[in-house]
Amino acid sequence: MDAQDWQFLRKVPSLFRCRLELPEFTVVSDICKKKKDAEQSAADLALKMLGNNPTDENPSEKDPCDALIARIKYLFTDEFLSSFHPMSGHLRAALQRKGGLYGLIPASVIAACDTKTSNLCKLLNTEVESKPFLALSLIMRAIPRLSGFVVTSKGQLSIQKQNPYPTEIIESSDIQQCSTESILVKAIQIPASLDETIQPVTLDISSSGYYLDVIAQKLGVTDASKVLLSRTIGKASSETRLYFAASESLVMELLSDHANVKDFHVKGLLNARASYFCGQEIYGDAIMASVGYTWRSKELFHEDVSLQSYYRMLISKIPNGNYKLSREAILTAELPSVFTTKANWRGSFPREILCTFCRQHQLSEPIFSPTSIPLKASCKLPRSQKKLKVTEAAELATEYTNGGSLNAGDGESVGLESSFRCEVKVFSKGQDLIIECSPKEIYKKQSDAIQSASLQVLSWLNAYFKDLGMPLEKLNCSADALDIRLTSENFLKEFALCQSLHNVQQCGNQGSKLPESKSTNMEYTLSGQDVCLPNIEGSYSGVCPSSGSLLCISYSVSLVTEGGHTKELIESKDEFEFEIGNGTVVSTLEGVVTQMSVGQCAHFNMNLPPHEFILAAVDDPEKIVSLLSSGLEYHVTLLRVTEPSEERMEQALFSPPLSKQRVEYAVQHIKKSSATTLVDFGCGSGSLLDSLLDYPTSLEKMVGADLSQKSLSRAAKILHTKLSAKSDAGIKSAILYHGSITEFDPRLCGFDIGTCLEVIEHMEEEQACLFGDIALSYFRPKVLIVSTPNYEYNVILQRSSPTTQEEDPDEKSLSQSCKFRNHDHKFEWTREQFNHWASKLAERHHYSVEFSGVGGSGDVEPGFASQIAVFKQESHLDDDDLPTQENSSQHCKVIWEWNCNDRSVPSSTSN
Ligand code: SAH
Ligand code: MG
Repeated sequence: MDAQDWQFLRKVPSLFRCRLELPEFTVVSDICKKKKDAEQSAADLALKMLGNNPTDENPSEKDPCDALIARIKYLFTDEFLSSFHPMSGHLRAALQRKGGLYGLIPASVIAACDTKTSNLCKLLNTEVESKPFLALSLIMRAIPRLSGFVVTSKGQLSIQKQNPYPTEIIESSDIQQCSTESILVKAIQIPASLDETIQPVTLDISSSGYYLDVIAQKLGVTDASKVLLSRTIGKASSETRLYFAASESLVMELLSDHANVKDFHVKGLLNARASYFCGQEIYGDAIMASVGYTWRSKELFHEDVSLQSYYRMLISKIPNGNYKLSREAILTAELPSVFTTKANWRGSFPREILCTFCRQHQLSEPIFSPTSIPLKASCKLPRSQKKLKVTEAAELATEYTNGGSLNAGDGESVGLESSFRCEVKVFSKGQDLIIECSPKEIYKKQSDAIQSASLQVLSWLNAYFKDLGMPLEKLNCSADALDIRLTSENFLKEFALCQSLHNVQQCGNQGSKLPESKSTNMEYTLSGQDVCLPNIEGSYSGVCPSSGSLLCISYSVSLVTEGGHTKELIESKDEFEFEIGNGTVVSTLEGVVTQMSVGQCAHFNMNLPPHEFILAAVDDPEKIVSLLSSGLEYHVTLLRVTEPSEERMEQALFSPPLSKQRVEYAVQHIKKSSATTLVDFGCGSGSLLDSLLDYPTSLEKMVGADLSQKSLSRAAKILHTKLSAKSDAGIKSAILYHGSITEFDPRLCGFDIGTCLEVIEHMEEEQACLFGDIALSYFRPKVLIVSTPNYEYNVILQRSSPTTQEEDPDEKSLSQSCKFRNHDHKFEWTREQFNHWASKLAERHHYSVEFSGVGGSGDVEPGFASQIAVFKQESHLDDDDLPTQENSSQHCKVIWEWNCNDRSVPSSTSN
């Protein structure tokens, strides 16, 4: 293989650009060659943006108290009024307030809307993070030191510039003139008492007024100075906040000169639902609204927060809910229990969901530590050929996950070059370790290892949120089962709010049933007895889902009253794709579709899931409130089934994977025969040749032949790397030929052992017969091992998901309807067909033949998964009897050749 070919094998370099979203603005980096550089560039840009301010001084270099005072002073300078800073929008709006409120800025706004002030407050008191009103107290206490510049207004939590702005400044800051136009913004009222329901409210914000006064009014207080603001919640660019009123006593305490921030006691009812949303303490009734000034425009930004968006935010706080939303299939999708392949995954990836989860719960970004496992360790295979129960199969599927860049699509696999494991750690904001997950599974690709480890953490978190009252012992036990170590003390501290929310709700629950179910109990699985038997309609087409298939369905979900008189469609999709067998959809639906064939429809009823899900799914909750005591009706049509690749199917059912077992089988023979030369007919990507280099054998020469250039290139690359690196191997020569094994080539003759694993079924039947005759009459290896799928075993492979065969004796039997294991297979033989072919063949060419196999058992119906014939030469012919090695008959092309002299020198091309 020449240099150019190698170039071709190399990966195309990719370029990176990083987009960094901050609460106040977004920056996009330059284009960089490395991901790290792009990230650095974005961060630099962001710092530049933040540092654009004239008074910007590194607060840590100064006393934070002085810095806070300087910052507040800057906010009230003339030039700041016309800036794009969100805070300046409030200043301009304040100049439109009427009467005594003219020019007054609520102190809470400064703490909430100016990031620098808020950071300084956090420096002064770390508790500000969780108690927004503490920042207010810090600001109020700073004001006396700004005398002559800003003043507070008597008895109010408001600040004002002492001297009015010059008229030209006011004129140039384009403050909107009074207009009669009113803006209606939908918001949500969250009562502090859990007995009261969440209600939609409308804020009538006229473009000339100050929106916080409107919110104050809704909260039942006189003006904006008594309104407290939470941090923004939801997406990075969101303006959604929770607003609540400062109680009389809190105002008094905040205003008192002697207020000691450290012993603040808020009297009032903690609003658990609101607090859960923002991770801050919210007291009394709260309003959730998306309105405010942004860096994007000087105009007031506003967006409706509907009941639906409230419930969507609520369910997104939990991994399963987040996944459902990413699939836009709240009543249908479920976070899968295992990560099989990237190609089969739909919706947000586990890593992404975990990062979002940490952000939403005010934790640090999770740390992923993938480790590469040395080749040897991952190649050690257990000798036993244990077949696993189907339930375990899915888990195993994650272990040798296909999809490595060295894999061909056609059931060929190559040896593992290296493998990966990944550890995940979750820390609190204060860097206390909370969760540590160290999965045992090994992956071919680093990214798969990361995804799977993330999913493991998410699965555990889901289980926790499903049962918040779980005793500590059970908590640790469930973590253990998922290779998770929990720092329970830190964990419970971080999730105390969920806990208290849960407890409060349980108390509230007694006697009267809440109009909404427990907000935190958001997963639902329905046991069999909840479900009516599905009604399957349409004729049986024979194309059925099997474990690992990708299914495409269309579906609709409606709320129905008992007797089915009233129906309200609440979720539907024309096309919805998912992998079957991993719990990717609600279990009842999964159970139903496995009983269907393509083209059939089914409908069935289910009990209601927790109301949050329903309310998150419908746009008009009012319309369906009367139906919230009824059930759900699902209508499903199975549109398509994409079969899993042969290799994936084998991996899902066998441990080690069937391909490994075949290799192992061949290796045993090679060892026993003390063969020194081997030819692999149809070597593909070289999985056998590659694996043989991992074992000590007597082999000195190995040859592979195949029709696929692409596979041979891969084989060449792997063998070359391995052979060049190994100094102790006994291999003296290795050659890869491009050509058909059904044509004679003298260079394939006279080997000690020949192998032909899972190749013949890729040819037409008569070609396979031709190969047999050519192999045993001309190539004449002393031993020939041929493997091919056992067609009868397909029943098992496809039965790995439950089907209705037993109940439907009139339908075509599965063995008639099921397809081959791989779309490239031209045929698959039953045991009888294979035996017939092999016995006749052996008889014609004076070979003996024995039958065996791998996967399953030969003694148990329907036999081995892969059937194997081992042919042995009975009489040894003299060399004279071999065809003469004429050059004209050398139809094979040498693709790659290696000699022991080549060790650690660049590849050479001979011939
Ligand atoms: N033996 C390998 C590959 C099996 S896939 C393994 O066990 O992993 C089947 C291979 O047979 C493919 O690589 C295909 O290119 C090859 N093949 C099919 N017909 C062939 C022919 N007539 N001559 C040579 N190779 C052939
Ligand atoms: Mg095959």
